[in-house]
Amino acid sequence: MVQTMKCIVKTKAGPGNLEMWEKPIPVPGAGEVLIKVHLAAICGTDIHIKDWEEFAATRMNPPIIIGHEFCGEIVAVGNGVSEERVGQLVSAESHIACHRCSLCLDGKENLCLNTKAIGVHIDGCFAEYVKIPSENAYVCNPNIPEENNAMLEPLGVAVHAATKVNLGGKIVAVTGCGPIGLMAATVAKRLGAGKVICVEPNAYRAEAAYKMGADLVLNPIECNIVDEMRRICEGIGPDVVLEFSGNIGGIQAATKYIRPGGEIVIGGLPNHDVPLNFTEIFYRGVNLYGLSGREMYHTWKVMTGLLNSGMDVSGCISHILPMEEYNKAFELLESGQALKILLRP
Ligand code: ZN
Ligand code: ZN
Repeated sequence: MVQTMKCIVKTKAGPGNLEMWEKPIPVPGAGEVLIKVHLAAICGTDIHIKDWEEFAATRMNPPIIIGHEFCGEIVAVGNGVSEERVGQLVSAESHIACHRCSLCLDGKENLCLNTKAIGVHIDGCFAEYVKIPSENAYVCNPNIPEENNAMLEPLGVAVHAATKVNLGGKIVAVTGCGPIGLMAATVAKRLGAGKVICVEPNAYRAEAAYKMGADLVLNPIECNIVDEMRRICEGIGPDVVLEFSGNIGGIQAATKYIRPGGEIVIGGLPNHDVPLNFTEIFYRGVNLYGLSGREMYHTWKVMTGLLNSGMDVSGCISHILPMEEYNKAFELLESGQALKILLRP
């Protein structure tokens, strides 16, 4: 008899269409591992999939089990994978690179031209079991809090952004205090930022930002953010902006209050094109950096080191719910009264 598991499936195209299904436990193929999921986390991507925004509509071919942020234990391996992997506690790099395109061959797997993503192109982790390529199963430290291991994938985005530029001693603005922005505030402090100023209009998230290490949180609705940012940053603005809001006005403001020669790392995804004043960017020598995923596996090495040395980002978690309560979890996220929500299968 085939053993089955509970899982959350995007059943068909269109908004909604998330259902809990009972499906056969996957069998790992050549080069794959089967993982028993301990704890999974809901990402903004999962909300885009639920709402069937352009990101999902142009990439997905349902039915697909969603979810890509998790930790768990390897319970079986496919052909060509060492049996020694069974029993390892792992988290997953969600981007599956092709290893054949010119960018992969140049060591830039995070920019692979043929990237497939767990929980988008192939079945994901909102399930009791998930199978993924062995190389994507990154070994975790079992001695750090499990909640941190479940969030290595999004933490990797925060760490990738914060390591794109040198933060030591700098005044760093973190715009947008969703879970990744909150983690970025902690990471920036840990990497030696002189001062971390968060920008966040939601009072609930602003409070979390202080707990995660922000020295100051500005509400861009209550002040003129360009004037205020310049005023409190030596009259000329912050050295670095780590942008996670994806907010058009927020991004435009950042290009105005960043100090001349400063650096802006784009970590948030705007829903629309963002008109920018390139003349100003040119004359003020502003540096803009894009960001995609995590460097494989340099970013993983850095974040593992930070966690092993005591960094804890579990302060960005607001709820841990049984997987069956996924509808409640999505409602909480849409209410703005939740941060990171973890699901336990
Ligand atoms: Zn994610
Ligand atoms: Zn590639």
